[in-house]
Amino acid sequence: MSNEKKTSPGENIAPNGFAALDSVNFPDFATGCVWLVGAGPGAPGLLTLLGYHALTRADVIVYDALVNDTILQWVRSDADVEFAGKRGGKPSSKQQDISLRLVELARQNRRVLRLKGGDPLMFGRGGEECQMLAAAGIPFRIVPGITAGAAALAYAGIPTTHRDINQSVLFLTGHDSSGDVPVGIDWEKVTSASPVIVMYMAVRNLPKIAQTMLRFGRSADEPVAVISNASLPEQSVHTTTLAGVSDSPDITKLPTPALVVIGRVVDFHGQLDWYVNALRENPLG
Ligand code: SAH
Repeated sequence: MSNEKKTSPGENIAPNGFAALDSVNFPDFATGCVWLVGAGPGAPGLLTLLGYHALTRADVIVYDALVNDTILQWVRSDADVEFAGKRGGKPSSKQQDISLRLVELARQNRRVLRLKGGDPLMFGRGGEECQMLAAAGIPFRIVPGITAGAAALAYAGIPTTHRDINQSVLFLTGHDSSGDVPVGIDWEKVTSASPVIVMYMAVRNLPKIAQTMLRFGRSADEPVAVISNASLPEQSVHTTTLAGVSDSPDITKLPTPALVVIGRVVDFHGQLDWYVNALRENPLG
């Protein structure tokens, strides 16, 4: 008979729940490697466990704008933390420079954590960074994050899909590298492609986009939600219609970062808006 003490489920869970993870074998973060980690949409509680593990191991962290400050406090006290986004009005670091910096740091045999908002591969140029790493022969791992396109809808009580409404969803960006409405998008096809369209970086061009979609046959009364600062205490949700957007230039002044949802799923916001008042007070989300 074994003398081993049996624990019952839940017995070794510390008040914050994390002690149970002590025995979990996370992948080794080897020196000379780069991990591209998605930090999630804002609320620090939405970082993944693997992302948290990486933060506690990394020698150097290269992070973007939109990464929450609380998350950056979880790094090792002797880790170097470098910012790669926009700083004090200066233009953002060039993508090529960031990728080269990752290669340089990995060649110094450090554990390099590239921390990006949301998911690294969703409108986040993570693919380009990985290409550069692959070309340089640097081993890398991608740790997905919760993308704003999923989180913002969840925090606004808007189902991304609902059986009564849509069997597809389309994600797109509302601006290209010059800031204009992307010309690479076939707007006529996109307009009719899916009952629900979720748009990143679209607030500035929203009236133009709405006018285009109306011209290509979307209904004027179709609901639209603009979800600003999703998952953060300052979250706000503005609901209107495609006609309303097209007629109101002021919509471009809504707080950012913001995600736009077009489609009848937006109607659920009135009934399912759970993230209100008291619930927002927890800074973890
Ligand atoms: N890789 C990121 C997206 C980067 S592009 C991801 O997967 O989420 C930046 C855009 O994401 C913003 O312009 C905005 O449209 C959206 N976004 C990011 N964080 C957001 C937030 N907390 N609330 C609403 N939109 C957000």
